[in-house]
Parts: sequence; structure tokens; C-alpha cells
Amino acid sequence: MTFQNSLSFAQKLDSEDPLRTYRNQFHFPKINGKDAIYFTGNSLGLQPKSAKKYVDEIMTDWAELAVEGHFKAEKSWWDYHERFAEKLAPVVGAKPSEVTVMNTLTVNLHLLMVSFYRPTQKRYKIICEEKAFPSDQYMIASQVRFHGFTPDDAVVEVKKREGEHHFRTEDVLEKIGEVGEECALVLIGGVNYYSGQVLDMESITKAGKEAGAFVGWDLAHAAGNVELNLHDWGVDFAAWCSYKYMNSGPGNASGCFVHEKYHGRKDIPRFEGWWGHNKKRRFLMEPEFQPELNVNAWQISNAPVLALAPYLASLEMFAEVGMPALIEKRNRIVSYLEFVLKEIATEVKSNFEIITPAKQEERGTQLSVFLHGQGKELFNYLMENGVITDWREPNVIRLAPAPFYCSYEDMYRFGQVLRSYFGK
Ligand SMILES: *Cc1c(COP(=O)(O)O)cnc(C)c1O
Repeated sequence: MTFQNSLSFAQKLDSEDPLRTYRNQFHFPKINGKDAIYFTGNSLGLQPKSAKKYVDEIMTDWAELAVEGHFKAEKSWWDYHERFAEKLAPVVGAKPSEVTVMNTLTVNLHLLMVSFYRPTQKRYKIICEEKAFPSDQYMIASQVRFHGFTPDDAVVEVKKREGEHHFRTEDVLEKIGEVGEECALVLIGGVNYYSGQVLDMESITKAGKEAGAFVGWDLAHAAGNVELNLHDWGVDFAAWCSYKYMNSGPGNASGCFVHEKYHGRKDIPRFEGWWGHNKKRRFLMEPEFQPELNVNAWQISNAPVLALAPYLASLEMFAEVGMPALIEKRNRIVSYLEFVLKEIATEVKSNFEIITPAKQEERGTQLSVFLHGQGKELFNYLMENGVITDWREPNVIRLAPAPFYCSYEDMYRFGQVLRSYFGK
């Protein structure tokens, strides 16, 4: 399709957008009295209007039923988390028995490493990406130290080549081959938070498994954004926060995947708690732990239902729309944004270098743009003029037009704000 940088063309794309009605089902922050152009769904997704109803339900049940709410609420609390599996499974390409929600992302990664990072003197290294999200770096280093190794030795970073913005799959595979029998775990972000690059999770998982390592993925920027086939790829474990593309609300619960081949296995250790106990016998308060025979064996505490409520509201929308439709719109709106950026760059004779891969299969919703010669004033100007983006040092803005609620008209209007900064 050939695009045009005009309001009427953008509005035409919106009128043909099968997801156009969803925009109205979200609350937009206002700037200067108008709905903001929201590019930070990769950081905190907008609030679905239905979320409040789900929270209110629990507040009402708590007021009216108190402790009886555990079993007598319409959406009973004792198994509230189980309502997620059927709907979450297709989002990440898993079986319902392999996905659940619990805790928060970094906490889940730590807990999953209890099961899947069990280093020996010979096999103890973790392969991750250079400049991983800071929380991941801290987590990995602390795990390595906890087991008596030193990060300098045990953490092996895959690096980008000099002057390049992306990881090359061949370099990741080569590193896995090189570390070989010393590699205990491959743990990488499936979509890089800084550049928006989608890694070749299938090939990397295969290579890690062939090297005899466990393979886990941090899907913070991938869940609800890109196509995932965790089960078929043979991924061992994964976790993701839900407040980014999955619109569940600030700091909310994390999704978690454990491949079914580990369910019911006695040789895989875990940190355990009563919510992981055989649910039919959970309240018999028996002394010996009897794990659920699915991913819920990794549950520890009773479910934080007030937090889960908005996540469930949002997940209902994912179930209704489905990832294929979201991905189709995502591809088109991101291409349109890319087009608008290039048009404006030419017009204002500036160099906006998109450091996200140009190939559709290597990127999701996010475009990261290097603003050569521009400083933070531009970012501030965008904010003051109704565009919410985010700024990363030295001068990268990340633009993520979430397909659920961003419009093509937003992309056009963003271009006009950008243009006006340059006095055009
Ligand atoms: C957002 C993000 C996190 C955040 O972790 P929390 O435990 O939810 O605070 C961690 N890792 C990556 C890669 C992220 O993008």
C-alpha cells in the first residue's frame, strides 16, 4: 500500500480499521484538554474502561461476603487466577496448563531460576544479551553470586557488532556453541526494550537446548505484542509483566509459562507454598506438599485478586480480538508511523534514524528513533504538545503505537507536532 502523509488519508485508514471501536474502550490521559497521542503502551498500557467494573466487583464481594468471597463470590477468589489460563494461552502460544499469573516479573524470574538455573562446577554459565534491562542484569548477577560464582566469569553477554543496533542471530548461536557444555541457562529478552528488535526465539531456543542448557525468555516487551509459540518452540520457561502491552495496570501481576514437560517432575526443585498444592486438598492443611500437576505448582501465595481484576478485564479484550488481528493492525500502523517519520525528516532536513529493524518479522509495535543533533528539548516539546513518548539516553525516543487504542490519525498528528518543532 502506498501511504500519504495527510489527515484525510489517515482518517481513511482509521475508517477501514477493524479494531477502530476499541479506542473508545480505553481511558486516555489528557494534555491541554485533549486526548494525548499515547506512544508509551510499551511502558504502561492504557486503562481499559472495563477494568474498574472488575475491581468494583471484588470490592463489593469483599464488603458483602467478606471471607465467604473466597468460595461464594461469583468470581470466587480461591481459584481466581485459574480464569486466566484459557485466554492467556493463545497470547503466548502455550497450552492452558502451561500458563498462569502470579507475583511480579522479576520475582517470577528469580523463582523460575530456582528450578531452571542449577549450576554445577562444570556447567554454570548464563548467556544473556548485553545491556539487558537493568532489573534482569541485577537478577542474573545476584543469582550467579547466590550460587557462589562471580558474574564476571559466569555471565556471558551476547554483543552487538561495532556500529550496529541489533543482535545478529548468528552471533547469538555462535556464542551458545562457544560456551557449549559450560552453558547452564540462556535467558534473554524476547523483544529488546531499547531497540524494539524481536529476537529469533525459535532458533535461539533450539540452539540452547542442543547445547544442553535450559532456555528461558523475559517476555516483558513481547507478550501482547508479537507472535509467540512457546510450547512448540520448546521453551523451558518464560515470564512477562502485564502492565505494558497487556494493559493490566501499574506494577501488576506477571504471567508465567513452564513447559508441560516439567509438570509433575520430582527432580525439578521449586520454592513452594500452599497455592501450589493440589487444589482439591489445599484446605485440608496437610503437612506434605502435593504439587498441582501443571504450572500452578509454581504458585506460592493466595492470589492477589484486587490486582488480578484489571488484568482479567484486559485479557477478556485480548480473547475477543485475538493476536492475529492485533498483529495485522500493528504491522500497518507501525509502517505508517515509519512513513510519516521519513516524510517529516525530509521536510525538515533532519536525520531521524530508526534503530528498530526495518523487517516486519524482526520488530513489533515499537520504533526507537535516534534523533541526531536533537536534545531533550524536543522530547519536552512533544510532551507539551500532546504526545507522550519516552526518552532514553543519549537521544532516543521510543514510539509504540499500541494497536488496541492508537489511531492512524494519531500518527499523522504526531508528525505535524514534530514538524512544528522545526518551525515548519
Ligand atoms: C519492564 C521490564 C521489567 C520490569 O520488571 P518488574 O519486575 O515488573 O518491575 C523487567 N525486565 C524487562 C526486560 C522489562 O522490560
